[in-house]
Amino acid sequence: MKCPKCNVDLVSEARHKITVQACPSCRGMWFERKELEALEDEAFDFGEHAKGTLVPSSTPSSLKCPECAADLSRFQYRFYDLEMEFCEDQHGYWLEADEDTRVLELMRQEEKDMQRKLSVEDRWAATLRRMRSGSLLERLRERLH
Ligand SMILES: [Zn+2]
Ligand SMILES: [Zn+2]
Repeated sequence: MKCPKCNVDLVSEARHKITVQACPSCRGMWFERKELEALEDEAFDFGEHAKGTLVPSSTPSSLKCPECAADLSRFQYRFYDLEMEFCEDQHGYWLEADEDTRVLELMRQEEKDMQRKLSVEDRWAATLRRMRSGSLLERLRERLH
C-alpha cells in the first residue's frame, strides 16, 4: 500500500500498542479495518463518550484510500478533537503524523481528574479498535448519506 499523500510504500509499525501501516516520509498512519478485535472492546464502557462524538463532515478530502483508491471522507472524533479520514468502503482510517501522540497527551491530562484503572495506552488502543470495527465504519457511512 502507498501513502495517500506521498505515494511512498507504507511500512508496518507498532505505535502505542497498535500496529499501523505508517508512511516513512510524512509519518501519517493507515489503520486497517479489523473485524475480530471489536469484540474485545465490550470490556470498555464507551456508552457516554460514544454519544454524539462522531461528526462526519462534508469537507471533501483530497486523499485516496490506499486500498481501493476511492476518495476518503473526513470526520471528526469530537471527544478528542481528532480529525481523521476514512474510506466509505470500510477499508480503514488515515491519521496524520503524531495525532495519536496528541490524543494520548489529552488522555493523560484527563486522567489526572479521574481515577482510571486502564492505562492511557490501553484506552487509546481500545478506542482505535472500536473505530476500526466494521459496525462503526458502517455507522459513519450512514451518517454521511
Ligand atoms: Zn506520506
Ligand atoms: Zn477503500
